[in-house]
Amino acid sequence: MAQGHSVRVASGAGLRAAVTDAAYQAAGAQIVSQAEALATELVLKVRRPSAEELAQMKPGAVLVGMLDPFDRAGLDALAAAQLTSFALEAAPRTTRAQSMDVLSSQANIAGYKAVIMAADRYQKFFPMLMTAAGTVKAARVVILGVGVAGLQAIATAKRLGAVIEASDVRPSVKEQVESLGAKFIDVPYETAEEKAAAEGVGGYARPMPQSWLDRQKIEVAKRVAQADVVISTALIPGRAAPVLITEDMVKAMKPGAVIIDIAAGKGAHGTDGNCPLTEAGKTVVKHNVILVGETNLPALVAADASALYARNVLDFLKLVLAKDGSFSVPMDDDIVAACLMTQGGEVKRK
Ligand code: NAD
Repeated sequence: MAQGHSVRVASGAGLRAAVTDAAYQAAGAQIVSQAEALATELVLKVRRPSAEELAQMKPGAVLVGMLDPFDRAGLDALAAAQLTSFALEAAPRTTRAQSMDVLSSQANIAGYKAVIMAADRYQKFFPMLMTAAGTVKAARVVILGVGVAGLQAIATAKRLGAVIEASDVRPSVKEQVESLGAKFIDVPYETAEEKAAAEGVGGYARPMPQSWLDRQKIEVAKRVAQADVVISTALIPGRAAPVLITEDMVKAMKPGAVIIDIAAGKGAHGTDGNCPLTEAGKTVVKHNVILVGETNLPALVAADASALYARNVLDFLKLVLAKDGSFSVPMDDDIVAACLMTQGGEVKRK
């Protein structure tokens, strides 16, 4: 608005994040129908438009959102609709891109909410308590995958008083885990191949050699068998989430233990996650263990998820909208180039 654009908001768009139409109007936006909102020159969305929504968008329009850069069929549909589209998940993990990093802003929320959900489902306390009626032991929490979500899960579980151990393939994580007061599950690299894979690319994990995964499994299995809560967040961009908690490991867990599988829906079979017993979108009890397969944890903290996402989108827009309101695609900007998915009827994803 401050840049002189007129802004249309689909009626009810913010309701589930506790933002009323009146609040948007007070900020100067025009409340319109969903179809009218989709028919603008620049459309800002959370998710990729459905086929029905695409049909309502103007050819040549610009779309910004979380558009699933690895879903080729989805990108083909955006290209066929003649949209210039930007997927914010594809932004590089650099300092300059931090304020528009949707993966980070949302994973941070997922890590927090995973712990809160675990505390809710778990039938015991998180903190150690000494009461007149006896002493309560602190919960043992194991975090698998220590990216943005895992780090926030450690910090949140720590605040609740749990004893935490964490595992990741990337050695650089050890220091971060320890600085948050948790213990790193060390699995030393024994070959040059293992070491090279562990370094990853652009800060992201790469699939690890089987030799290392086998040793990691043994170490993780010991911790998981003792755990009250396991939170798994391990992802490898563009690939199925690795299996870190096998059925045998679940069988060895304590009755009443809780697994929150943040990778739910991203496993090799589509409905599983880091655990093959996870059922995406459901909470199930298997071998007396509670498995939570919530696929959209940020949506359960909708107001903050929305506010942080809005800041990400706004900062990205500053790269493609000039002060005079004109739109351009500066391909010499590494963030813009990385996020550009489709233009002129073609898929441009790098
Ligand atoms: P992610 O969601 O892609 O993956 C979650 C974690 O799972 C990662 O830490 C990954 O190493 C781990 N993992 C993968 N396979 C595993 C296995 N077999 N066992 C255990 N763990 C496994 O990660 P993310 O949160 O998106 O973060 C990815 C990287 O980007 C991190 O290095 C993070 O620090 C970095 N990052 C940088 C910036 C920035 O500089 N602007 C911003 C955000 C994140």
